[in-house]
Amino acid sequence: SLAAVDESVPPPNRTQDRREPVADAPVAKPFENTPDTDPHLPGNREWGKAIIARVGSSTLGDQLVADHTVTSVEAVESVLEGAVGAQADWGRKTGAERAAVLRAAAVEVERRRAEWLEVAASECGKTLDQGDPEVSEAIDFLNYYAGLAEELDLVDGARQVPVRLTLVTPPWNFPLAIPTGGVAAALAAGSAVVIKPAPQAQRCGSVLVETLWAAGVPKEVLRLVHVPENEVGRALIASPLVDRLVLTGAFDTAELFRSFRSDLPLLAETSGKNALVVTPDADLDLAVKDLVHSAFGHAGQKCSAASLGILVGSVATSRRFRDQLIDAVTSLRVGYPTDPTVQVGPVIEPASGKLLKALTTLAPGESWLVKPRQLDDTGRLWSPGVKTGVKRGSEFHLTEYFGPVLGLISASSLDEAIEIQNQVDYGLTAGLHSLDRAEISQWLSSVEAGNVYVNRGITGAIVRRQPFGGWKKSAVGAGTKAGGPNYLVGLSDWVSAPATE
Ligand code: GLU
Repeated sequence: SLAAVDESVPPPNRTQDRREPVADAPVAKPFENTPDTDPHLPGNREWGKAIIARVGSSTLGDQLVADHTVTSVEAVESVLEGAVGAQADWGRKTGAERAAVLRAAAVEVERRRAEWLEVAASECGKTLDQGDPEVSEAIDFLNYYAGLAEELDLVDGARQVPVRLTLVTPPWNFPLAIPTGGVAAALAAGSAVVIKPAPQAQRCGSVLVETLWAAGVPKEVLRLVHVPENEVGRALIASPLVDRLVLTGAFDTAELFRSFRSDLPLLAETSGKNALVVTPDADLDLAVKDLVHSAFGHAGQKCSAASLGILVGSVATSRRFRDQLIDAVTSLRVGYPTDPTVQVGPVIEPASGKLLKALTTLAPGESWLVKPRQLDDTGRLWSPGVKTGVKRGSEFHLTEYFGPVLGLISASSLDEAIEIQNQVDYGLTAGLHSLDRAEISQWLSSVEAGNVYVNRGITGAIVRRQPFGGWKKSAVGAGTKAGGPNYLVGLSDWVSAPATE
């Protein structure tokens, strides 16, 4: 689960000009991570500006959204039955045959990178610099799971049998990469898939499915539905035809789904409340940069985001650390993704409830290092805030917010910092900034989180190098890690392999 870089993976080629056609780009085999767009190339800047110019008026995905809204329980059942019926042919294909389709899909996603960025910006407020790595991650999922499909035949003496139907219910915060990952994994395993995009990301879901169909994924095997959150949605989740449900979302959503069907076979990556610890032995400049990026990328709307900075000993009182943090946060450019210079975009919906409370109030002992400001009357645009003096065990310490607000807690020692970190119910990502080997090994052996990062930001896990998933209340069900070697195992049934001579 460590974030160690796999040195055998060659660095990606970062020089590609996105204006060049990529339709016959070589298919990555063996697996290689796909490079993000290099914004320093003048051609790519022009390419990005052209995407942004279309964002406000984008209608991508609209047609498909209309076509796939399912409003009755009978219609839900008929979609599920159709997918189950079509699965046999798909499941009978060899892993290599399915891998070829997934690799073709990866090429098609690369070809449509601009469209994908446009719809994510227009529908979910993703800035290009946040959206572009997401498209790369989606491509990585397709290529990586294709490779796993080829290796799937035998695992520890058991033979893989695809489950018939996987339901994928992705979130809106990574509206491209996460749905692609769930769909690609299930297809790789030989399952049929029904995807229900998040209500806030329906057009992204539509563009994804259309791309995969265009690349040769059979339409009957990959179905898209938009369902209302009433008895129709409930019928989808509770249907006994669903063999696996891949959920990325809030822990409470996993609980809700289980209340619909108690024996639901869930593979769920759920909430996080993640902290980055900074000790006096850290490179403080790097710590500030990584903390700010992890806290405020995509306006803090990541399960992996840093919501707490735990400052050990003299870091908590360091004038230099404090001033640099204030400078870094106040220089972030906040706005809508139609402005190419924006670094922190809008939150998905007007801030309300616990997020609004975190952005606008202080508990006893807390004060603002940087006070968040509401920048327009939509309620969606907030300048990032940093509160200091957060008390151990307080509401801010223990609550997930999913927005642009960071809290700072002081700790007298690394031991205490680890206790503070482990006191939360969740365990998704965690970070340490320290250059001291003894501190690093002490922290690594005691921190309770699925993805632990040393001297790096805590968001942006990379497929294969950093398989992603948590423990404690950050995972429900099988708990295998996305983008890692065991993910397809959880999407299959296993029978004893025939005895060999
Ligand atoms: N995989 C993403 C990352 O490492 C986070 C996904 C999520 O927010 O659910 O930043």
